[in-house]
Amino acid sequence: MKKTRRDKDPFDLVIFDCDGVLVDSEVISCAAHAETLTRHGYKITADQVFDRFLGRSMRQASLEVEAEMGRSLPDDFHAQVYAEIFRLFAVSLQATPHVDEALAAIALPVCVASSGPPEKISASLNRVGLWDRFAPHIFSAVQVRNGKPAPDLFLFAAAQMQAAPARCLVIEDSLAGIAAAVAAGMPVLGFYGGSHCRPGHGDRLRAAGAVAVFADMRQLPDLIARIGQKPGFVAGFSAL
Ligand SMILES: [Mg+2]
Repeated sequence: MKKTRRDKDPFDLVIFDCDGVLVDSEVISCAAHAETLTRHGYKITADQVFDRFLGRSMRQASLEVEAEMGRSLPDDFHAQVYAEIFRLFAVSLQATPHVDEALAAIALPVCVASSGPPEKISASLNRVGLWDRFAPHIFSAVQVRNGKPAPDLFLFAAAQMQAAPARCLVIEDSLAGIAAAVAAGMPVLGFYGGSHCRPGHGDRLRAAGAVAVFADMRQLPDLIARIGQKPGFVAGFSAL
């Protein structure tokens, strides 16, 4: 049900990325991708997958691997990777620490906008108990023509939620996601608290256009309030 808009609300909508923001999934996804590639004769570690392929589509990654190997991966390669991701999710996926209490303290309408396919979003959010907090306001890149870093998914989510782009706030952990929000004309906060984040990740998010960066979800409700009190607020602010 749509909430009544209040003038004092800093934003009309908060859009959350899923992987690396709501769930600490990127390490698991890289491990599954590496394991499946290795099983098909392309030896690679999870760290190497992270460095080379994180934030890029699996299709692009597969084309690169196939060109290197000089032969094709199986037709159902992507399904095999996702089967391994779902197997690992079921045993080890965790919510981002303190995301429950952050969400409980945010009174604004919220939604999810993820590059992942619907099955992956559903498996993730159900596993950590966040599905009911967002459903049915959960959007996947399969619903738009161009994925992140294009703005399509965030603009689609805003339209579905009947919010003007400039009145939306995005929470993202990837450079592609920050770029997508900036292209959509939405202020974006960069989260660098995921277990996949390396030193300097927060700085990279800020350089990409995040208006502020943070590594602890307990900071988020206060950050939203502070940013909302500063109309026209832009880069240069840091919430460390
Ligand atoms: Mg992400």
